[in-house]
Amino acid sequence: MSQSLSSAGVIERDQSVVTPAIYRYTDLAFARSEGIFLYDYEGRRYYDMAAGIATMNVGHCHPRVVQAIADQAKTLIHAASHVGYMLPYVEVLDKVLGLAPPPLREGKGVLVNSGSEAVETAIKLARMVTGKPMVLAFMDSFHGRPMGALALTASTNVYRRHLSSLLVGVEHVPYPYCYRCPFGHGSHTPDECCGHWRNFIQMTMDKLVHPDDLAAVVVEPIAGEGGYIVPPDNFLPELRAFCDRTGALLICDEVQTGLGRTGKWYASEHWNVVPDIVALGKAIGGGLPLGAVIARAELMDKWWPAAHGTTFGGNPVACRAGLASLQVTQDEHLLENATRVGDHIQARFKQAQSGLPIIGQVRGKGLMVAVDLVNREGNPITVDQVKKIIKKLGAAGVVMTKCGQSALRLAPALVITQEQADAATDIILQVLNEVSPEV
Ligand code: PMP
Repeated sequence: MSQSLSSAGVIERDQSVVTPAIYRYTDLAFARSEGIFLYDYEGRRYYDMAAGIATMNVGHCHPRVVQAIADQAKTLIHAASHVGYMLPYVEVLDKVLGLAPPPLREGKGVLVNSGSEAVETAIKLARMVTGKPMVLAFMDSFHGRPMGALALTASTNVYRRHLSSLLVGVEHVPYPYCYRCPFGHGSHTPDECCGHWRNFIQMTMDKLVHPDDLAAVVVEPIAGEGGYIVPPDNFLPELRAFCDRTGALLICDEVQTGLGRTGKWYASEHWNVVPDIVALGKAIGGGLPLGAVIARAELMDKWWPAAHGTTFGGNPVACRAGLASLQVTQDEHLLENATRVGDHIQARFKQAQSGLPIIGQVRGKGLMVAVDLVNREGNPITVDQVKKIIKKLGAAGVVMTKCGQSALRLAPALVITQEQADAATDIILQVLNEVSPEV
């Protein structure tokens, strides 16, 4: 049967049964993968700068992850955490807590199935243990699409169209997106931030949210889907201070930023901030579905038995895959590699900027790199234009997604070498050269 499989055949079958709600950034069908490469059914090779949407940190089919999955599958595939105790569950929490700074390191956690579920679990924990109803979230944030997480997500109205009633008790305040300042102060660097986000939070507290009611502030240390927006250095520390002042809990959504992608285990470490609660997903499962919430022990200990749970959360196979992936990340020094190669990729695009005015801004940390594209007037190109460019890139051999309205989003596996990054960058720059006159 396999000799009759073609990419076109798979796509045709897909279109007959899969909802068009699932948007595809490429017109490709993937048959197999290895390291930082994906291969289609015709055997063509693609540089994977998406890495399962910032998930496959140790690359595709890493032998140690494959072995861990096989070994666990032969031993115990599933029993469910409500039925009894399973060592892989314990070991994943031990591992991610051990990588966190104190007092989170001495904390406790719970495992779930995805990033969205981790976010929903985090806000549920915050509300249940504080007894307070309100949550502050940020514009430009992405926390997931199920209806609880979606109530926090504010990166585009597409996700909310025709949905009027989501989770109540969420107020949004602006994220400091200095390149596209939401307060009309033009484009500036985070160092020159106008700081109006601070006033907006104050106004929200004065007019809408009584401090007695504020359970938590939920924030991505670097806004991910919203545009790989790196905030000013004072942003996260000030949020920490604000939470300490008001008694609110600081929840960091590190689903995308966590576990090495930015060059630290937790992106909040870049600003020496320790959250009260952290949501994890993506890389934690080594490519299998897994999410986690970790929190200071006294918060988790306030949660009563049966207050939370899920059938598959902490599935032993996903846990073993995640543990193997985290161990490889440590053994192969991939945090250092993420910083080194990420800086190199940024430098390459910054160098190219003077000859390629379509590149408006290059930003990011570690292997979260955004190349924001602009038209001749310096305005962001449209979502349709960036999607078209990404399809072209796919056809040219580089797979990626976008972030924000108009940015190419580079989030390859943390194992990527400088040579591989250069080869992918060359192709991207070539395509940007070609499309430049059209935008
Ligand atoms: N939070 C963040 C910061 C994310 O980037 C994502 C996914 N892109 C989610 C939550 C949702 O995770 P999932 O798709 O696994 O539900």
